[in-house]
Amino acid sequence: MIDPTSDIGEDVDESTAPTCHTCGKKIVQEPNHRVVSWIDEGEIDHLHFCDDECRASWSGKRPNQ
Ligand SMILES: [Zn+2]
Repeated sequence: MIDPTSDIGEDVDESTAPTCHTCGKKIVQEPNHRVVSWIDEGEIDHLHFCDDECRASWSGKRPNQ
């Protein structure tokens, strides 16, 4: 269970690791990990990217829109 108000990415293992929104790679101890956050109806949502390249490849479209 991830607390949505806390930072994500510091204490993950293979089973709980986020996946890159662009390429689908598991992000485990990825130094160039990028997270995009926004508020959706009072809740914080995130998208994860393994690096700047995948972040730049993102269309900007959020998955629930
Ligand atoms: Zn990626």
